[in-house]
Amino acid sequence: MELDPQQDPFSGEAVRHLVARYGSPLLVIDAERVRRQYHRLAAALPGVDLHYALKPLPHPALITTLDAQGAFFDLATNGEVELVRRLGIAPDRCIHTHPIKRDSDIRTALSFGVTRFVIDNPDELRKFSKFRSRASLLIRVSFRSPGAQVDLSRKFGCDPEAVADLFRLAAELRIKIDGLSFHTGSQNADSAMMVKAVEVCRVLLQEAVAAGHAPHILDIGGGFPVDYLQPAMPIEEFCAPIRAALAQLPPAVRVIAEPGRYIAAPSAIAVASVMGRALRDGHWWYYLDDGLYGSYSGQMYDHSVFPVEALASGETFPSVLAGPTCDSIDVIREKLQLPKLDMGDLIVGRVMGAYTWASASEFNFFPRATVLALDRGRLLEATPG
Ligand SMILES: *Cc1c(COP(=O)(O)O)cnc(C)c1O
Repeated sequence: MELDPQQDPFSGEAVRHLVARYGSPLLVIDAERVRRQYHRLAAALPGVDLHYALKPLPHPALITTLDAQGAFFDLATNGEVELVRRLGIAPDRCIHTHPIKRDSDIRTALSFGVTRFVIDNPDELRKFSKFRSRASLLIRVSFRSPGAQVDLSRKFGCDPEAVADLFRLAAELRIKIDGLSFHTGSQNADSAMMVKAVEVCRVLLQEAVAAGHAPHILDIGGGFPVDYLQPAMPIEEFCAPIRAALAQLPPAVRVIAEPGRYIAAPSAIAVASVMGRALRDGHWWYYLDDGLYGSYSGQMYDHSVFPVEALASGETFPSVLAGPTCDSIDVIREKLQLPKLDMGDLIVGRVMGAYTWASASEFNFFPRATVLALDRGRLLEATPG
């Protein structure tokens, strides 16, 4: 046992113990929180098969923990396919959802046993002519979400008006269309666009039948929001209107979703240490061993602002937290009130599981955080950065 099974691995005491043993920076994953997020979303969307999208945190601990809960998986690249293959995940619990694929992406997924793919245009559809006996497709429809933190319908998805032509072309090419998918954007402020997307797709599914297909799947994507520095809508409230819209679908339609952030984000914290400090213009600058090029990369790419705190107490002063690299944009937060910190003092970033470590680099040769995955006190895995 690495920790007392009763102990919260995100508590100050646990964090100090882990840094003493494994050094810093760390990304600490709590399998118990992974399960909690999964079951809370599953309860808010009864009857919807949840496919964890690996992209925000492609770590074995999440995959095996979710697999044991009966989850499904959403894969997008050869690397993700290899990861679930290595972990013994059943291929019929996986779908491949990258709308644009190389021949090798399709072949790698098929050779693992994944048979359901996503397309959003005629050229991509034609790639499946030679695989028509082994693959079936979902068509990704675009619904722009200006209110989401990350708009995922600009780069991918076809306009609802263009779907009928794809149904027709697929029928001509004798390629099976199993249904539709969409992703209204990540960290949605509310579910209005998802509800509208379900309603539009309900009509489009009828058109698919008219074109000679037997669609039976609607994939409502990801985008379920979590609390960062700014709180999000509670997931039950977010999902209630989606449930109402889904209830209007024909009962034979299987509904699936692709949550990433909702499961990964609250399930990990980032721990960094103070490497040095300087007083500049009346503000204490603390230089940490993790920053914008590391686990805090989510502040750049994903536009998240993570809650950060110091594991220290005392009178507070205006402070700046900076990353370790020589680049001047590598600043995590300014205008924070923090106690006066010393070398080796710890800074904890919360809600840091999604789009953080996954997009971290080793710029300036500062290594990525070591990942520790814990389950009720047991260390599942220690992955050096
Ligand atoms: C990134 C992605 C997801 C996960 O989205 P979240 O907003 O993290 O839930 C799901 N599906 C696809 C196709 C994606 O690209």
